[in-house]
Amino acid sequence: MRKPYIYGNWKMNLSAAESADLISSLLAIKIDFNKVDVGVAPDFCSLKKVAETVHAMDYPVSVAAQNISVEEKGAFTGEVSAAMVASAGADTVILGHSERRTIYGETDKVINEKVKTALRNKLDVILCVGETLEEREGGVAVERVIYQVGLCLQDIKMDRIDRVTLAYEPVWAIVTGKTATPADAEEIHGKIRDHLSKMYGPVVAKKVRILYGGSVKPDNISALMMRENIDGALVGGASLDVASFVKLINFNG
Ligand code: PEP
Repeated sequence: MRKPYIYGNWKMNLSAAESADLISSLLAIKIDFNKVDVGVAPDFCSLKKVAETVHAMDYPVSVAAQNISVEEKGAFTGEVSAAMVASAGADTVILGHSERRTIYGETDKVINEKVKTALRNKLDVILCVGETLEEREGGVAVERVIYQVGLCLQDIKMDRIDRVTLAYEPVWAIVTGKTATPADAEEIHGKIRDHLSKMYGPVVAKKVRILYGGSVKPDNISALMMRENIDGALVGGASLDVASFVKLINFNG
């Protein structure tokens, strides 16, 4: 039985003061951490403060960076390393987000290198994959997603895969207000798990959590979470408001 995992991706939306307010408001609300795992991904500038707030209250809330450099260290102006985000208090990093792929040209190869860098630096990984609208309409959604999973996890050994969470995020559903139907999402999640089973065997594949992302809201999360292979949600917009974020976390009442 996989524990549900609800992760908020705050993107580039909040000031440091707003991020601090949001995490404090969230932690002030009673959450049954026996039933659900929770995480937040603030921007780099807010990361330390958010992580300190979480750690001071001793809540089991994961804190992620939204990106890391593929490089370990050196003359890479504007980049932020895995070790830097870890020292700021992050335990996780989101990699392969479609905004990184489409706006910043990150390829599966680069994402694979970043996954390795993250794991080497003791960061867990939320690895995002997903097809574009053209790929879905062209009938190649499954192939595209499976291809991404295979390449992004290339050379990631069995003993490290338990530190990776997958997130299926159809590109056409992110920030657009369009959500994949629970049946469509479940189909892809099932195929991802089948592929993980080929790569790592059925026992390991059964344990890996696969989140859904793409316009998840309090009114659509329950139907998604009822599906066998949907283990949680990676949420952008609806995680920016404490009331809706808490409704998502408490999706099962
Ligand atoms: C995301 O950023 O990963 C995301 C799914 O965004 P939204 O929930 O706003 O569609």
